[in-house]
Order: sequence, then C-alpha cells, then structure tokens
Amino acid sequence: MTKLHLGIDLGTTNSATAIFTGEQTQVVPNKRGQANTPSIVRITGDKVMVGDRARKFLDSDAINTHREFKRLMGTGKLTAPDSSGKQWSPEQLSAEVLKALLDDVEATTGSRPSQAVITVPALFELPQSKATSEAAQLAGLDKVELLPEPVASAFSAGWSEDSVGQSWLVFDLGGGTFDASLVEARDGLLRVIGHDGDNFLGGRDIDRLLADWVVRQLESNHQIQIAIDDPAHKGLAAKLYGEAEQAKIRLSTQASTVLEIDLDLDGREIIDELPLNRQELEMLCEPVINRALEICRRLLAEHGLDEGGLDRTVLVGGPANMPVIRQRVTNELAPLAAENRDPMTLVAEGAALYAVSIGLGSDNDSATPTDTAENKFWLQYPNVCSELDPTVMGRLVSTEGSKPSTIQLTRDGWESEKVTLTEEGAFLTTVSILPSKATRFTVQCRDASGAKVSVTPQTISIVHGLTLSDPPLSRSIGVALANGYVKTFLERGTPLPARRTFSQSTVDTLMPGSDGELNIPIVQGERAKARYCRRVGNLVIRAAELKKPLHAGSRVEISLEVDRGGNMKSQASLPDQNLLIKGVAELVIPSADPQAMRATWQSLQRRISIQQQGAFRERNEDAVRKLEHQQQHLSEIGIQLTGTMECEDTRQRLYRNLLEIEAEVEELEQRGQVDELKEQCESEYLNAQYSVLQWGSEIDRRLFSELEKKVATAMERGRATELERIIEQLQRINNATYRKSPEFWSDQFQYAASRLHQATNMRRAKLLVDKGRDLLEQGKTEELRGITQSLWSLLPENMRSAEETHDSGVF
Ligand code: ADP
Ligand code: MG
Repeated sequence: MTKLHLGIDLGTTNSATAIFTGEQTQVVPNKRGQANTPSIVRITGDKVMVGDRARKFLDSDAINTHREFKRLMGTGKLTAPDSSGKQWSPEQLSAEVLKALLDDVEATTGSRPSQAVITVPALFELPQSKATSEAAQLAGLDKVELLPEPVASAFSAGWSEDSVGQSWLVFDLGGGTFDASLVEARDGLLRVIGHDGDNFLGGRDIDRLLADWVVRQLESNHQIQIAIDDPAHKGLAAKLYGEAEQAKIRLSTQASTVLEIDLDLDGREIIDELPLNRQELEMLCEPVINRALEICRRLLAEHGLDEGGLDRTVLVGGPANMPVIRQRVTNELAPLAAENRDPMTLVAEGAALYAVSIGLGSDNDSATPTDTAENKFWLQYPNVCSELDPTVMGRLVSTEGSKPSTIQLTRDGWESEKVTLTEEGAFLTTVSILPSKATRFTVQCRDASGAKVSVTPQTISIVHGLTLSDPPLSRSIGVALANGYVKTFLERGTPLPARRTFSQSTVDTLMPGSDGELNIPIVQGERAKARYCRRVGNLVIRAAELKKPLHAGSRVEISLEVDRGGNMKSQASLPDQNLLIKGVAELVIPSADPQAMRATWQSLQRRISIQQQGAFRERNEDAVRKLEHQQQHLSEIGIQLTGTMECEDTRQRLYRNLLEIEAEVEELEQRGQVDELKEQCESEYLNAQYSVLQWGSEIDRRLFSELEKKVATAMERGRATELERIIEQLQRINNATYRKSPEFWSDQFQYAASRLHQATNMRRAKLLVDKGRDLLEQGKTEELRGITQSLWSLLPENMRSAEETHDSGVF
C-alpha cells in the first residue's frame, strides 16, 4: 500500500499543496490548473467559494468575502458580521481553504488525505500555531504536523543540492510577511540556527507604494483628491491595489507596462493610462527591499556571518519573482540555491518531503493494488536517509500458498544479496540508493524450489537526502517575574516537543477565601525584560481555591510544555498546599487597546525628545540620526492612531511598531549605562569564574566556558540588552555554584540579617536572627539554611511595577 505524503503551505495570501508518492514531489494543481490558490473565502448561505472565484467578489461583495484571516489566527477575533449576521473565526475560514485544497488533492490522486504537514511562519507564536492545528481538525484532517515555512523551503532546496557544512539564509517575502531564517546542514541534519523577520512586510507594501504613485499621478492629471484610506472609498482603493498588483506582477517578466485606470470617484468617471517601466517600479519599492535586507543583515551579524560567511540564499514567496530582488539578494547576501525552482511552491514541496521523512502519510486507497498477494511483508526502512547504504529489515506477517524462502531487492543496474529468510520469516539486508533522488526497489522472492512468488509490498522507495531534526521552537518561552525579567523555560531553537520545570517563589501573601489572586504570566520573546515580550498565557492562583494561607516566599513549581504542533500546556503546583493548577493558560494574543497605545505614543514622544536634547548636547551624530528616524516613524504611527483603527490587523501592526520603537528608545536610553554595564559584567564575570573554579562541577565548567565566549562578544559589541542578559546568566551560574560552597548559607544569613529593619514581621524576624547568630557561633552552619529561608520570606524583594512584569506574582 503506497502512502500519500502531503505538504500544505497555508499562506496568508496564497496556499499551495504538494504530494510525494514515491518518486518525487509533485505540486497539486487546483481546479483552474494553477499551483497557487488565493487564501480568500466567500461564504453566502451554505455556499462556500475559495480562491480566485472568491477573489472576484472582494470588491463587489466585500462583506461576505474574507482574506488575510491567517493574520488573526489565535487572536480569538471573529470577522465582522456578514450579510446574514454571521461571524467567522480565522480557524473556520482557514479550514475552508484547507478543504478546498484537499478537494484538489482528491481530484488529482483519487483519495482524500487524512494526514498532512502544514507549514506556519517562523514568527508564529504558540496561539497561532495552535489555531492552525484547530483549522486542520475542522477541515477533517486527523493528524497534522506543523513545520516552520523557512525550514520547509530550505529542506526542499537542500534536498536537490549538496549543501553539507554550509550556512544558508532563507529569504521569504510573502504577501504581507517577511521571514529570514538561517539554516545549517550538518551530519545529514538540517537545523535552523536563527530566525528574524517582520510579520508586516511583503508584496502588499509594494502594491501600496505603487497605488500611492498611481494616486499622485491621477491627482495631478485630473485635478482631483483621492483619500485612499477613507473607508468611503474602500471599493476604489481595492481596485487600485488590484491594478497595482497586476502591473507589478507583469513587470517581473516585462520591461514595461501600462496601468489602465478606470475608476468611479464619487460619481465622476476617471479614465487614464499610466505607463510604468521596471526601473520606476524598482525605485518605488526600494524601501521594502531595503528593510528586508536590513533584517537579513541583522540576523547574519547576530550569528557572526556578516562578513562573507554565508554560502547560499534560498528565495521564497511571490515577490522573489522580481528580478531586482533576485539581483540584490545575490549581490548583497549570497548566491541563490535552488535557483530554478518556483519560489511560490518551494514551501509546499518541502512540507511534502518532511511528511516523507517523518513517515506521516495517509493510505492511498485508490493507488493500492487490491490485496491479492498471498505473502505479506512488514518492512522497516528509512523513508529519507542521508547515507547511501541504508538497512532494510522485514518479517513475513502472513503467508498463503507457496512460502518465500529468499528475498532480494533490485533496481535498475543493481541488486542486493539474495538473503535467506529465517525460520520466522525475518531478514535484514542493506541496499544501495542513488544520490539526491528517490530510489525505487522491487521486492523479489523465491520459494524453496527457486520459483518466483508474489509478495506485498511489491516495491519500496527510499529518498536520499537530508533529514530534518524535530521542528524547533521559533521563539523563547518563559515566565515573567516580579522583578521585571523573564525566566526563560524553553530557548528559541529548542527541538519540540519539549518540557521544562522550574521552582519559583510567590511574592505576595494570599489568604484563603479572599478574592485575591496571583498571576504567573507566560511570555514569548527574546528580550530579557518581560515588558518587551508578548504575553501568551497566564496561570492564576486564586485565593478562593486555597486551603490555608499562602505566604509570600512559598514554593511554586511551574512547568511549561510545548508539543510539535505548537500547543502549550502549563501547570503550576503548590506542594505546601497540595494544589495543582492546570491548563489555565489561555493562549490568546492580547488585543492592542487603542487607548493604551495612544498613551504609549505620548510617553515615547517625551522620551525621544529628552534623548534628542542629550544627543545634541553631546554632538552624538549617530544618535541624532537614529532619533530623527524614530521621531519620523512615530509621527507616521501617530497619524494612524488618530484614526478609527477598526481593523484588528492594523491595531496589531501599530502595536508591534510601538513596541519596536520603545525597545529602540530604551536601547538608546541605556547607552549611557553601557559603560556601567560593562564594568558590572566584568566583575560578575570574575565572581562567576571564582565560584566555578572553587565549587563548580564538570558541567558548570563547561557551561561557563561556553558563556565566556558570549561575554567576550557582548563586551565587544557593547549592547545594553545583550550585556544585561549575559550579566544575568553570569549571576545565575555564580549563584548556582556558590550555593555549593560551605559558606553559602552563613553569608546569606548575614546578608538577610543586615536587612532586618525591612522585615514585614519584625518580632518574628528578630527571633530568627537571634537563633541564627547562636547557630553561627556554634559553627552549625548547615542548620542555617532553614532559618535563612524563613527570614527571606519576611523580607521584601526588589520588585517592579505591574506594567513591567505583566502583573507577575512570582519570583
Ligand atoms: P504568502 O506567503 O503571504 O501567502 P506569496 O508567497 O503567495 O504570499 O506571495 C504573494 C505576493 O506575491 C503577493 O503580494 C503577490 O502580489 C506577489 N507576487 C506573486 N507573483 C508575483 C510575481 N510574478 N512578481 C512579483 N510579485 C508577485
Ligand atoms: Mg508564503
């Protein structure tokens, strides 16, 4: 029985599918014979239209026609009510796209798949990945694996290239998202070593720049005013964007074109023909390409590959068809891999290959020859293999009639040894496969008399290529602490599934039966400070559920677990209370509240102007330029913030932009502190070195020597956030090893005792200190531990405001 291995690129703008049936990947065409199906859905009554058919109604029936819903995945948001008052979730709409794709696969192969690999953007966070799994379920798929899109692209480009030992960059510019990913292929394993990107950069921005150009031309040619963002002109704007997009696509293959404009502006007919050549378009879209390249350079620099270390680039996505993008990427980054492949189907093909490599596939009923063979083998072999001589093992599971006694696997020009089956009907042999392609072997058996006997399966195929490691976590995940920092549980790049548990302490006291509660915010992101990471979930300890008072300083065991599908489970347990809080994590992307955004905007204005004064005073040209840029960016956002911001998509984009500016401003604010941080880093480094040498284990030493390299880079680069992170890591390793020292508890006790005046319960604290001093005098330092811990629980931590900690109640 052959398996149908299916890969689905469920794109924001376009979707595509590819199958692998045994020899190679094959892109599945839709009903119109096209490789790409627009991710657009129109629902009227019980009639559903998907793709180009639905696209036609974007203009005339906007209320029932939905697009770009992938952006809302995992937000919990529904579409605006349609003409019958119904609202749809992005998962439901994605499911409709998936169903249409499955229809096409069924039409091509004759059987409907129940399993698939679906790709998701590298920057998808957990809630969005989870929503994708839900959409798949709604579409009737009962098993799916999610794979980051760039991994899929690299996989499919890597499969046809000899790439071992190199570093590649996947440059995926889609309709509205940009992903840059660094991959390395080593030991037959394709690994993603870094991601960067922008969820709001893509071909649509080029359309917008071109549409703005068209508006300027029309305004001057016809003495009119067109407010393209005015909701009253929604239809007109859509038409303009459509024209702009088509012209852009034509200019990928033609040197020049004409935009034929035919618009109705408040009852007035505007007709025009605007000639446009490729160079003009290239100039218009330069900012988009610059931004994408900037992100790539940032990623390369982060991995020390900015000076010629990169070997290849893989171009992915519709805009990769533009000659200027191919040129600039080749010139400014690295030569292209998989140059002749279609950049718009690479992702789906990679997903299909991945399906093969993990053995995920549905039974292809129609292609199955009816089970007439009397002898059936159960065979075990790798679907994809990086060596050229894989092992094939097997056993007879049913026999009828003449029983096979020998087995041989053959292909054109080669045959395996003739192996005699054991008494149980088992065998083991090696086969020789052809490099960089699928090799199909025929299974040949003979009975004791030497006569041929028929067996199932009749053939097997093995692909030579790189295998993929487990899908990595695209963004680090952790818990926001009450001191404003993040405790990272799972680092970016961790292979999934993964699970990690840490023990933290509570910072407030909760009395049973009261209405108090304590938050454990779960955040995702790469920044050391919690406020710059996104909250993706929350565990709540409610006072009402407690059996006895929960004192500040109580231990809480928190564990986070992420499966291959991006589903996160979290739980907190309070051993002292015998209480377990489970799955309370709500994976919802927080809505970007307009009022809060306006307040942030104002405070940023202020902070930027303070920085500007300083930069002018110090004649720091670099900073002046940066601030000028931020100021400009902020004013652009300011204009949009005064609008209605009806669309969640716009709000999310502005929200992210604000967070980005805020992070940059903070970076500048901190620049003044860099020297101080460097000094601190140096002294923490020496402390840690001392502790590790004195009390560290073999593992501590290894960790420390890895950290040493990072310290050197961080000192050289002098970036505040990076230094902060390193300092924290140094402190962590220092603490961990210092804890093993004989003086630890007596030192800790002395320090806690010196803060006696801050204790919440002075009388009790005083008693503890007296008792501790006695123990110290008698030299009973091991007993000091309990005393010190009790003392800690009476002392306040140095905590930050709720805003900076996502209102965290743990430390
Ligand atoms: P997504 O990954 O977001 O689904 P795609 O990779 O399908 O997106 O890219 C869609 C974008 O590619 C659209 O903006 C579309 O205008 C653009 N595009 C498609 N074909 C071409 C082409 N031949 N030249 C330039 N841009 C193209
Ligand atoms: Mg895409």
